[in-house]
Amino acid sequence: MSGELNLTNIKTIKALLQKHGFSFSRSLGQNFLINPSVCPKIARLGGVGETNENVGVLEIGAGVGVLTRELALRYKKVVVVEIDKTLAPVLEETLAEFLDTNTKIIYGDILELDLKELLESHFKGMDVVCCANLPYYITTPVIMRLLEIEALPEAQVQPARELLQTEQTCSRFETGGSPAIRAVTVMVQSEVATRLVALPGTRECGAISAAVRYYGEAERLFDVSARSFFPAPKVDSTVIKITITGKHNLDEVHKKRFFKVVKSVFSQRRKQIINPLSSDFDIPKEKLRELLLQCGINPASRAENLKLENFLDIGSCICSY
Ligand code: SAM
Repeated sequence: MSGELNLTNIKTIKALLQKHGFSFSRSLGQNFLINPSVCPKIARLGGVGETNENVGVLEIGAGVGVLTRELALRYKKVVVVEIDKTLAPVLEETLAEFLDTNTKIIYGDILELDLKELLESHFKGMDVVCCANLPYYITTPVIMRLLEIEALPEAQVQPARELLQTEQTCSRFETGGSPAIRAVTVMVQSEVATRLVALPGTRECGAISAAVRYYGEAERLFDVSARSFFPAPKVDSTVIKITITGKHNLDEVHKKRFFKVVKSVFSQRRKQIINPLSSDFDIPKEKLRELLLQCGINPASRAENLKLENFLDIGSCICSY
């Protein structure tokens, strides 16, 4: 493909898609980026560390390959997962020069693939980041799947270590190791972005915000108007970056409890936390009040008043019951 290929030009895209008999699927969230400044920016901001020399990228949803090309120019390797096989002839043309070198397309559903296995077989020895203009209908499940991938075996360098133990609470354990994916830089609907990056302890915080903060730090990078896509969606978008720290890694039991606490208190976010917690964990209110006060938490707090540490502490204190 010539160096003049401009995949942000609507005429070029239309000609290309027509040539290969492609028609858009609304249900697959096919809104392709046509604003020339956006993909280079996502590719530039999606990395980790000083250089991207040893960084591989997992992209979700190739479309016509507009972001894939920018990633392939900057990173050691790109693996892009695309569900729509009818894009294959288009991508063979638009990514031709990269498919021979550092880029691979996997046709499949990102929600069905074994992601740990994918990372192990394609990115051995590399740091891995994920960059994507996500299909909006799967934003939350995709982000959760990426965050939940366990550390790769070679990254599990630290032994399990006791983090916290007091007389009343049971311990929290770090499972050790670096995260499998270091950062997730994705375009999502602006409204969803607000929730994803919200800090626990703020009004915007929901269960998904607390889940994201369990795994890492989240920031809003920049907004992208609906006009930047072809066809244009109904809402504006925002690019966010989640840098996965693995700081709060807990063993499976404590992790499950943390997520159960989060789900419980946000399921009735206007109520005092003692109410949903008492029924979901089946602990009498008087006993629960005592346990919460012992770890310094006001039983009359609401979900949005709690900091991340509070959720972790509630999980610990409840398991001593
Ligand atoms: N990256 C391109 C861009 O920025 O123009 C395309 C982004 S478009 C919003 C989303 C892409 O994800 C589409 O190509 C769509 O076919 C693909 N897709 C939708 N659901 C998917 C799934 N479950 N797994 C993998 N790809 C999916």
